[in-house]
Amino acid sequence: MDPRREEVVPHGPADDAAAPSISPAPQTGIVPAGTPRMRQVHLDKRQRHRVLAGHCWVYRSELAKIDDGVADGDVVGVVDARGRAVGSGYYNARSQITVRLLTRTLDDLPADFWRQRLAAAIAYRQRVAPWPARRLVNSEADQLPGLTVDQYGDHLVVQANTLGIDRHLDAITSALIDELHPVSITARNDAAVRELEGLPREVRMLHGEAPGPITVAVGDVRLVCDLRDPHKTGLYLDQQASYRAVAAWVRPGMRVLDAFCHLGGFALHAARAGAAAVVAIDSAADSVAGARAAAVLNGLDGRIEVRQANAFDALKAMASAGECFDLIVLDPPTFTRNRDAVAGALRGYKEIHLRALHMLAPGGVLATFSCSHHVDAATFLGSLVDAAADAGALLRREQILAGSPDHPVLPAIPESEYLKGFVVTRIG
Ligand code: SAH
Repeated sequence: MDPRREEVVPHGPADDAAAPSISPAPQTGIVPAGTPRMRQVHLDKRQRHRVLAGHCWVYRSELAKIDDGVADGDVVGVVDARGRAVGSGYYNARSQITVRLLTRTLDDLPADFWRQRLAAAIAYRQRVAPWPARRLVNSEADQLPGLTVDQYGDHLVVQANTLGIDRHLDAITSALIDELHPVSITARNDAAVRELEGLPREVRMLHGEAPGPITVAVGDVRLVCDLRDPHKTGLYLDQQASYRAVAAWVRPGMRVLDAFCHLGGFALHAARAGAAAVVAIDSAADSVAGARAAAVLNGLDGRIEVRQANAFDALKAMASAGECFDLIVLDPPTFTRNRDAVAGALRGYKEIHLRALHMLAPGGVLATFSCSHHVDAATFLGSLVDAAADAGALLRREQILAGSPDHPVLPAIPESEYLKGFVVTRIG
């Protein structure tokens, strides 16, 4: 998941190092006498287990028994209360999510396990996201929990957020080199979650030289990103498909507002589609500098004004000043890190929706996004309807948007779905 976005909490890893002590354990769990087998953890029979319904997480509280000798980072077999195979995955007692499943058998990981999974993830992107900047591997949604791989042209950025994945970085790196022949691979292993896994936070090269700022095509524009800058997190690749979807609503001469713009992906696409004047707002100095540079790079600086401001304050001030836009994009950071924060998040969405609706011209278009996993699409739309009622506006839903297709969603793993958006027009 992308940086501002809610992460699928990473955890446990898988372990090749355990291999010497492991012989192929039959799926039945019956082990020939004298043959060492993969150590196992046993699900508690009194609970419902999401792993039995397609999820890949096993919480510590779901385990009734853990074999002696299981060490953090090992690949373990997971069996149900009757000893039947559930799968195998990597173990980390430090994590609440103590096992993350990698396979649905009790066999050792095949020697080419990482290569196979990576090749499948890459092949899927070739089909659904055949463009130069994209997420190649999206953790649980690619059956590689804890691993993300982003591609920026010839350069790759890997995040290993769990001990189990970290242990296999060599195998993962060589498989990526064989599959894609990248010029460089940067490990952005600086996420705070690594500390919870007992791992150091670091940025280092896994292959090639540090590339410096990279110019890459994103949608229909070019953006510059610095893959090593610890303050930056690359691009929000998950919005790439929506840039074009939203730009399709632009008519020549429109006034457009892009609130929470980061590098201005929506603003740039709107200007390119013929908007006469675009205001882009972000509170972060590096986002604002990046968006201004991107406007120049794409020859659109004459029609894009980038302002550094808290969008809540700016929207309020602009609405009070009677400003008016034909298209408004709202793409804030997540307002919820956990379920308890939902009420506050809904107040935040309602506030920005209300301000935006006050500034929306009759017939105007609002594209609004939420990347809070804990706020589902219906609840999010409900907050928009509430705001519309307060603003005396009648809305028509035009389009339902989601993350770009290189950010797949597995319905069995609700955490893999976080980004949703609606395009609405004001018809009254
Ligand atoms: N629309 C962007 C992604 C937005 S991510 C894109 O397509 O790339 C959210 C952005 O909101 C970040 O760039 C962050 O710097 C900015 N942000 C966070 N809090 C903010 C606030 N209160 N006001 C304005 N910008 C804010």
